[in-house]
Amino acid sequence: MRLFDKPLHRDGFAWWTGVWALIAALSQIFPSEGVKPATAMPVWANAILSAALIGFLLGLVPAYFRLLARRRRFRRHAAANGVPAPTATGPQQRVTVASGPAAPQGHAEASRRTAASPPPEPPFERQDPPPDRSKGDAGASRAEPSRGATPISALDLAVLREEPTLQQARKVLPYPIARSIRGIQQSGDLKDAYENVLRAAETLSTVLGIVSTIWARQHQVRTPELDNLQKGFARGLTWGHWLDVVRSMDRVMATHPSALIGMPDALKLKKGNTGLEPDLRRPLKECNQWAHGAGPRNNLEASERLAEVVPPFLRAVEAAGFLADMPWLLVHDVKFRRREGDFLISASEAMGDHPDFEHRSLNSPTALAEDVFYLQTPEGALDLTPLVVMRPCPTCHQREVAFSDRLDGRQRVALKTFDRGHVLFDDTLADEVWTLVAPPPTVKADEAD
Ligand SMILES: [Zn+2]
Repeated sequence: MRLFDKPLHRDGFAWWTGVWALIAALSQIFPSEGVKPATAMPVWANAILSAALIGFLLGLVPAYFRLLARRRRFRRHAAANGVPAPTATGPQQRVTVASGPAAPQGHAEASRRTAASPPPEPPFERQDPPPDRSKGDAGASRAEPSRGATPISALDLAVLREEPTLQQARKVLPYPIARSIRGIQQSGDLKDAYENVLRAAETLSTVLGIVSTIWARQHQVRTPELDNLQKGFARGLTWGHWLDVVRSMDRVMATHPSALIGMPDALKLKKGNTGLEPDLRRPLKECNQWAHGAGPRNNLEASERLAEVVPPFLRAVEAAGFLADMPWLLVHDVKFRRREGDFLISASEAMGDHPDFEHRSLNSPTALAEDVFYLQTPEGALDLTPLVVMRPCPTCHQREVAFSDRLDGRQRVALKTFDRGHVLFDDTLADEVWTLVAPPPTVKADEAD
């Protein structure tokens, strides 16, 4: 039961409850003069008991009634808007990601739906918990926009556009993530937003996987998941490969003296099996269903699915905040400073959602290579090659940030641009990909195909 909004400190009611409990406790500890203790219990036990009783009576009970009232209001709201809501825009208006089969036949939907998924109308009547939850987890105190006559289906889009976690992430996170989150906020409709949330969740997973792998290579850390990643290049990496690597860092980083700052904490499992990695599994699962043709067929359905997938996604974005403290640098120019004995680096900082990166100069005790991406950590710059590179995109005719996705034969690497998923080929990176975290496989049998 969600009696209080999250975060707690933003819910006035939670404060109310706490203050009453405190007053009750204090009044037992410092009784007014002349009042004799009513029981033989020690003062502290008495204080705790009365705090619990008063907190319950004046805090939890009203909070419960508030919850009931909110549910009723939501149900009325849904009933009022449920009828005219479906598909103002056509069901097959736009499907941008190539891998997912286009959502088919909007009209056959009614008959099919009974077999595959619950019927359209009742879920809204009956399923009040999911939207309620999304309000609690993601929306925090943003229950406000829901008064007024906005249709439910339009609600999430406004919420996504104003979501503070996303706004902040667009400013401070590495470019690929920030850019994909911008995509969410620019979505034209809810189906669009649904696809963009999944895509951003994949980008976030990929970036976390890349950072993990680069860190592991630096510190000669090996896990079975990293070995799998390296093998996976032969056939092409998947979202799951990257997430497995991220998960495998949990144990390693928890005890490693040079763990990336903030990452061990971010990886810790929270109660209810949430946490950075499980929270990204949820959209991954959703994406698999979508790829198998079970994506939302209209905006109403998209809104329901978003209510499921956005809260874990937002938690993951928040947990990934530690990435903001490790800027991605694209080095342009390196000069040795004779007198100081160090290097003056001029670089662009690939942080935030704007494709024109901010320019920056810094001193480095070691030389850095030009036209290479580095992850700037307190322990020095980590070379992101061969996983992240800047390359001219043959489709867009401009330079784009790309990541290694697949080995194309022995000599070439197929790269994918973060922004639009364009594929380009590179013949300088293959050796490094083959030996990313482990020596190249000695048996040629499994490379033959
Ligand atoms: Zn491109």
